[in-house]
Amino acid sequence: MPFDISNFQPQAWAVLSKSFQSGRLASTYLLSGPDGSGRWALAMSLVSLINCENPIIEKTSGSIRSCGKCHNCRAIQNYNFEGQHFAVPLPPYKKPDEAIDLTNLVLQAKKVEPFSILTSASNVTISIDVARRIKSALSVRAQTGTYRFVLFHQMERMLPSSADALLKLIEEPPPNTVIILTAEKPESLLPTIQSRSQKIKLRRTPVDVLAAYLKETYSISDSKSDVLAHISQGNPGRAVAMIETGEETGSLQRNAGFQLFRSLIEDPSTDTIARMIDIIGQRNRGEAVELLRLWQSFICDCAGLAITMDEENLVNIDFKGELTRLAGRFTSPDLGARLAAQIKITLADLRRNVHIHGALAALTLRMKIEMATA
Ligand SMILES: [Zn+2]
Repeated sequence: MPFDISNFQPQAWAVLSKSFQSGRLASTYLLSGPDGSGRWALAMSLVSLINCENPIIEKTSGSIRSCGKCHNCRAIQNYNFEGQHFAVPLPPYKKPDEAIDLTNLVLQAKKVEPFSILTSASNVTISIDVARRIKSALSVRAQTGTYRFVLFHQMERMLPSSADALLKLIEEPPPNTVIILTAEKPESLLPTIQSRSQKIKLRRTPVDVLAAYLKETYSISDSKSDVLAHISQGNPGRAVAMIETGEETGSLQRNAGFQLFRSLIEDPSTDTIARMIDIIGQRNRGEAVELLRLWQSFICDCAGLAITMDEENLVNIDFKGELTRLAGRFTSPDLGARLAAQIKITLADLRRNVHIHGALAALTLRMKIEMATA
């Protein structure tokens, strides 16, 4: 393995590896966290560990991990382990065999970058025949000496009919088999699935760990990896996506978003507001949401700096100097919370399909009022 998951997800890894070490491996785990947080990488690290022929135990910390070199470790890394089963969201297909090819494409992508985020297209689902095929494969007696595993990735994408097949699997788990489910929010799953799984929540990856990974994997500079680790808020998948989509568009959008934010905070005159509304009113819904999320994180940074002057928790480190200056405007202790609340209202409006231009115009006016009364 090119990375050690215990650095990315120390708490989650401690729980998982200890359950194995003490012989209390659960039959079903539910790993929860946002897309890109590393659920897949965590799952693969666990199945490597439980099948590893020579696990490595760190003397000082007592933490354990797979060797990455033995027959089973290599088979798992190369996605040709005999007892592997994957159910991932797939686009619509015609013949059942196509599901295998499409799944292999996902495995290829994950082999290259285990943190990569799969498509968020709305028509991808975990289909019933994939769930059925896994169920029938597991009904055959397992090879002794290894643990078979099933990874159901992004459970929210599972069709109800597939969930029924899965439920039977979870209720009567086959021997020597570990079932791993991933979901953004465990509450969104059937209560019976939730109650029969051991839930493990992922946290943000420490920025220094993520920055080191990005630097080494993508051969980028110290400062760039540091910025990406911060602005992705410790989400490896998001940081990787920013590298893959090209930094320039990303940083241009960030710059434009920051300039708008700055004029709103520093110069909320009627002229500025009118000009701003013209600029931001041209954005589509996705861009508008992205802009507002960016503003939210700027507000959060300014409010944090205003209270503590502590740069440790700053997210947007690429605007450190400017944000420190803008923080001087956040003299009222609850201004940050009030501005953030206004943005939240607009984000909810945008989800309800209201007119984008109108929603953003109303928001800038309400933010102006909040600034004036601060
Ligand atoms: Zn090994």
